Amino acid sequence: MVGLAVTAWAWLPSGIRSRDLVSEVLRRPGLWVAGILLASLPDLDYLPGILAGDLNAYHHLATHSILWIATTGSGLLLLAWAITNRISLRVILWVMTLLASHLVIDMLTVDGRPPLGIPLVWPWSGESFQFPVLIFEGFQKKNWYDIWQWANLHVLGVELLWTLPVLVATLTIKTCNRKGELT
Ligand SMILES: [Zn+2]
Repeated sequence: MVGLAVTAWAWLPSGIRSRDLVSEVLRRPGLWVAGILLASLPDLDYLPGILAGDLNAYHHLATHSILWIATTGSGLLLLAWAITNRISLRVILWVMTLLASHLVIDMLTVDGRPPLGIPLVWPWSGESFQFPVLIFEGFQKKNWYDIWQWANLHVLGVELLWTLPVLVATLTIKTCNRKGELT
């Protein structure tokens, strides 16, 4: 949802008619998929865990640090620039905001496994960081079977409850931001 909201904020034209929203999204589906993937990219660290037979074995390590976000974001932007020969401030902000949003969401999520939080300033410090108030519940995900339980549906519901309004607010601002409609 946050990936979609940031993508809507960055790419939907201001003052778009609400009835044109769907066609605008369908016009560039790759953009919305890229938004979701970029917002989820730090969780790439599940992949070695899948191979090791323990999903969490390498989770919340280097990919959840500011350094990784900065270098990966810069690398992706350089690649995009090399391919297209141009890069705009909007693209830079879109990519960096999406990657950083993942760290913010994770710091707002209950972590069931010490060290609690994410290693934000790795490699300079191994300390883990969390916000003092946690609004999202953590998924049960010790292994593949663990994921498919009802408790995780509740976790998903809480996540939707917090993030859906962000998407709706973004779409509302985009559709209302037309002359004569803001009064
Ligand atoms: Zn994560």
